[in-house]
Amino acid sequence: MNKPVTDNSNQSKPVGAERGWGRRNTAAVSIASRLSLKNICHSYGSMPVLENISFSIEPGQMMCLLGPSGSGKTTLLRIVAGIEQQSSGEVLFDDREIAGPSVFLPPEARGIGLVFQDYALFPHLSILDNVKFGLDKLPSKEAKHQALQVLTRVGLEELANEYPHALSGGEQQRVALARALAPRPGVLLMDEPFSGLDSRLRESVRDETLTILRESRATAIMVTHDPEEALRMGDRIALLRDGKLVQEGDGVTLFQKPNSLFSASFFTELNVFKGAVKAGKLHTPLGFADASEFNNGDLIYSSIRLSDVEISDSPDEGHRARVTAYRYLGEVDQVELQLDGVDQRVRARLRHGNLAAQVISGHRDVFVSAKPENMRLYQQ
Ligand code: ADP
Ligand code: MG
Repeated sequence: MNKPVTDNSNQSKPVGAERGWGRRNTAAVSIASRLSLKNICHSYGSMPVLENISFSIEPGQMMCLLGPSGSGKTTLLRIVAGIEQQSSGEVLFDDREIAGPSVFLPPEARGIGLVFQDYALFPHLSILDNVKFGLDKLPSKEAKHQALQVLTRVGLEELANEYPHALSGGEQQRVALARALAPRPGVLLMDEPFSGLDSRLRESVRDETLTILRESRATAIMVTHDPEEALRMGDRIALLRDGKLVQEGDGVTLFQKPNSLFSASFFTELNVFKGAVKAGKLHTPLGFADASEFNNGDLIYSSIRLSDVEISDSPDEGHRARVTAYRYLGEVDQVELQLDGVDQRVRARLRHGNLAAQVISGHRDVFVSAKPENMRLYQQ
């Protein structure tokens, strides 16, 4: 395999400003597949890295595989691609087993498109030839026509005869996407496809990629470790931790109804208090929460988002606290507060300008609290 090209020297140019994604033709429309994983387990040697992963993706949907580094995202993607053979379990496309106890289709027989983290473009091939690469079953003239159509779709037809090193990071990403989509795959697999782009460029490339994917109608899996990206891109999100599926659902469900402290803390920073349930309640320095679904004496955790911490000047409204650190974050301020008489600090976020200078400097105490409905309780 040739070394991939990752020349990102040019990448801070806004994409739209140079060569637009523009022409809305509808090249490369796929027949999307339903994709199902059933009890996928995988070990490298004796080390288990995936345990009993099961989920389905409807035709045309985008599933984001989300999780911290090392949680098994890439391994799962490689299993779906057929680059890796799972230790046990099944992969089905449209209810047809493509990898399982008795079948193993190689990657080229699966009708998938792949976009790697580093794009993996061939440096010695022109952009056109890079995109033609997966079209080797077509007569050359037809392959060229189809490749040009897809390049037009991502707004890069004028660069067809250039080589990868002449392109910015964002343009290379679009070539990688065009190459993956050109054979009209029923399933598109992308491993952290935007991580090589700087943050401003990433946003526009992400939005355009989503538009193209919707038009291509491929079923897609995208790996990311960025919860915001998963919320933005995914019709569904599968959150992995240490090779296990923690939670699977749409973004609203994962963000608003996290099923564990891990899920909750993956999407936002939290203040966490630990305590024992007494008379159906958990008492925390910020107030008490209804814990009637737990047993008295259970040790549980209460989590409160930073933006749900309320700060008041009135001693009737919470626990006395003093600001020990302040950070200006643009639209919001973040403060750290030492609770009076309790060995714990609390962090809070509020609109910039809402705290008096004396409070920020730690010269005046405040009173902190949280509404019971903003405290989420977890066993662990
Ligand atoms: P992620 O993409 O979520 O960062 P990976 O799927 O790359 O996670 O890795 C999951 C685990 O498997 C990690 O502990 C990693 O070190 C291990 N791993 C990944 N690839 C290999 C391999 N080829 N051989 C042995 N261990 C591997
Ligand atoms: Mg990975």
